[in-house]
Amino acid sequence: MVHDTSKLGFETRAIHAGQQPDPRTGAVIVPIYQTSTYAQDGVGGLREGAYEYSRTANPTRTACEQALAALEGGRHGLAFASGMAATDAVLRTALRPGDHLVLGNDAYGGTFRLIDKVLTQWGVTYTVANLSIVDEVRSAIRPETKLIWCETPSNPLLGIADLTALAELAHTAGAQLVVDNTFATPYLQRPLELGADVVVHSTTKYLGGHSDVVGGAVITNSDELREQLFFLRNSAGAVPGPFDSWLTLRGMKTLAVRMERHCDNAERVVHALLKHPGVDRVYYPGLPEHPGHELAAKQMRRFGGMVSFTVTGGGERALAVAAGTKLFVLAESLGGIESLIEHPGKMTHASVAGSTLQVPDDLLRLSVGIESAEDLIADLSAALA
Ligand code: PLP
Repeated sequence: MVHDTSKLGFETRAIHAGQQPDPRTGAVIVPIYQTSTYAQDGVGGLREGAYEYSRTANPTRTACEQALAALEGGRHGLAFASGMAATDAVLRTALRPGDHLVLGNDAYGGTFRLIDKVLTQWGVTYTVANLSIVDEVRSAIRPETKLIWCETPSNPLLGIADLTALAELAHTAGAQLVVDNTFATPYLQRPLELGADVVVHSTTKYLGGHSDVVGGAVITNSDELREQLFFLRNSAGAVPGPFDSWLTLRGMKTLAVRMERHCDNAERVVHALLKHPGVDRVYYPGLPEHPGHELAAKQMRRFGGMVSFTVTGGGERALAVAAGTKLFVLAESLGGIESLIEHPGKMTHASVAGSTLQVPDDLLRLSVGIESAEDLIADLSAALA
């Protein structure tokens, strides 16, 4: 039975970290502890490490959290009810009235909405910057800046930010670098190893991997931050249930093999799109002409399964293409085994319309799944014809 998985490879950690056979029954797979409460030995007699109430902790969730931490190479993992609950917990832990944060100009719309519509009501201010340009981030920093919030690759334009440089910049300013690593996953990129303080995930996406669960996670090496997040989560209650934790844990076991296939398929789709006359521009960090290509090659293992492109003929044509695919399902979200297509301007990023984060109207975003690449290319070609 392996208890210390820290020296083992990524694929081994995904399958064994936090997942020892059940000590009572020998069950090889971590059981779904579908219980809200736990018997206690006596009043006030809780044993060290014993469970008390499932909002505070649950054994299935603990296993999921240990696996999350092991994959990101961090000391502490905390699972949340959704990616936004994880984002909210980090923001509310790190920021107080009067504090300021720097946010990428290409951030997930929901993150922008939370900051712009909710946090500002509590006296938090923010500046939007192109995180691919380190000098622009430096100029956005103020004495009261406490956080840089980064997505790389970003959503939906797949911009690449230099995590080592941003971590240095944040630390010099007395701020923390938070990386939303949802698009890359820890298989392709581990921000804590590059100097980031906190990693956030929507585990709804690649970590869960099967579009059947909504969840979020925070991973950090800081004991203090872990205590603060744990306290807030227990106080506010945005926890995933045991079954959701179990689904996420099961998904993570195959992350490495799925990501390899997502990357293979994305590369083939990109090459087909580049040759298509109905396609104007393809955004993919794996392309040598992508401005962040060299950086991505340095800080990522491969370039991921997300591809964005603009079509010739404008926004109306983009909508028609999105509605015209058969295998690529028209849907929000990403990172599942099945391919999805969406129109960011009218779907995932509708909440940034009219702001500096507005996305092009003729842009389409693909989450390239793990089906046969030939079928995916044929489907896109037919919709573009
Ligand atoms: N971060 C990114 C990059 C996302 O794409 C999403 C959702 O699409 C979220 C965070 C929010 O996660 P959730 O939908 O699990 O709350």
